[in-house]
Parts: sequence; C-alpha cells; structure tokens
Amino acid sequence: MGDHVLRFDLITLFPDMADAITRHGITARALQRGLWQLRCWNPRDFTRDAWKTVDDRPYGGGPGMVMLAQPLSETIAAVRADRLGAGVGAAPVIALSPQGKRFTDARARELASSSGAILIAGRYEAIDQRLLDRHVDDEWSIGDFVVSGGELPAMMMMDAAVRHLPGALNDSNSAEQESFAAGILDCPHYTRPELFDGLSVPEVLLSGHHERISRWRREQALLATLRKRPDLLEAARRDGRLSAADEAFISGQVLPH
Ligand code: SAM
Repeated sequence: MGDHVLRFDLITLFPDMADAITRHGITARALQRGLWQLRCWNPRDFTRDAWKTVDDRPYGGGPGMVMLAQPLSETIAAVRADRLGAGVGAAPVIALSPQGKRFTDARARELASSSGAILIAGRYEAIDQRLLDRHVDDEWSIGDFVVSGGELPAMMMMDAAVRHLPGALNDSNSAEQESFAAGILDCPHYTRPELFDGLSVPEVLLSGHHERISRWRREQALLATLRKRPDLLEAARRDGRLSAADEAFISGQVLPH
C-alpha cells in the first residue's frame, strides 16, 4: 500500500445518510484516526434555478423522475478540482447501479489500496443517460435487487474497503480471518457462557492448544464453505489455495442430502 490517502467523494441528495458510517463503529474510528476521508457533495448546490431542481420528467413519458445531467456534471467537476487542490490522487467516477458490476471482496481490496472513488448515488427512476455516457467510468452494484437510492450501496462499499485498511480493525478480528479473505468462509465463533441452551462450546476451543485450535478453525471454515458456498471451495481449489491436509479433510466429509 502506498502513501496515498483513501478518499471517497459521495455525490448524494441525502448527505446526512453518510452519518451511518462516519459516526458509528469501525469506519467512524478509522475516519477519526485519519485512515480514510469522506466528502459529501449535494448536486442541489450545483443547480441553476431558484427551485434548485435536480430532476425532471422522462422524455417519452413513463413513471418516475430522471436526475438532471447538469447539476451532476458540475458536481463532478467541482469534486475533481477539489481533489486536485487537496493533492489527493485522481479517482474514477463510479455510479451506483443495479445494472453495474457486482461488488465483491476483491473489489473492496482494490479500492482500499487505491486513492478512492467519486461515487454517485442515484435516486428516482434513473440518471440521465448522457451523464453516464460522458462522465462515469464504471457502474457498480451490490446485487440483483433494487433499492431506493445509491447511498446505502455506496456506504456498504466504503465500509467494506475501509475494513481492509491496515489498522482499521483490531488484531483480534483482522480482515484476514474473515469470510472471503482466504477464498473461503469464516469459521464459527463462540463466547461465554460455556453452556447455552444445552449447547456446549466445542472442547478444542477450551484446550488452550493453539495448533489444534487453528487446525479446527481451518476445518470448520472449510466445512462451512462446503455446505454453504461450494462454488467458493471450487474456486479456492482452482486457485491452489487448498493444502493436501485441507483436501484430505474435505474428502472425509459426508454432506446431508
Ligand atoms: N430504474 C433503475 C433500474 O431499474 O435499473 C433503478 C433506479 S433505483 C430506484 C435508484 C438508485 O438506487 C439507482 O440510481 C442506484 O444509484 C441505486 N441502486 C438501486 N439498486 C442498486 C443496487 N442493487 N446496487 C447499486 N445501486 C443501486
């Protein structure tokens, strides 16, 4: 990771929504410690009429409103100038969209080691296509479903990226132990009490034997992946991320039908 700053610029009609990640939890702590930066920009501040209009009816008719290109393009220009003035690296303009590329842990890692992104949170039915054609480098999606605006998707992406910044997480829940980090899912976790609703904590976790605990965690992670996401296990195998011991463990498993 270089000495650049991870800075996000979020273009949104609802800047207050960003409080969810700037005021709470791990992302807020990392922000206070200067590990990343966020600036919100409201396209309403870049409108040219007295009513601060940011949307209009669609040509051709039909339901919903369309976000005007002009306030958005001027916001993007202001963001670019501000980034330049602040000496932070140039960043791609990304529109949040259900039609975009699926956001993954790999993309979150790439983002974390970059200078950030200029994220456009859409609202209403759509953004004028000409703005997308002229000023947007890529479109990213959080999944095959539609939410009411791009703010939540943008915040999910920023949160996922910030977790990968060195020092953002405590050692004890390092991003390297989480699902997807090693190409497989995380293992199950337990805390006090030792007995809950008739269920005990697995014996090995109370043994204090670090090597056995670490092997057990690896096996449980493999088992969880085999049961819940066999596609990931297959990909990990193809990428050469499974050891001979992993393969021996997996081949001994009988899955319920
Ligand atoms: N009419 C659009 C379509 O069907 O593709 C959906 C518009 S949606 C109601 C409004 C905004 O929410 C979008 O511009 C986008 O920014 C955001 N959005 C909705 N679903 C999303 C998803 N799955 N991933 C990322 N952004 C999403």
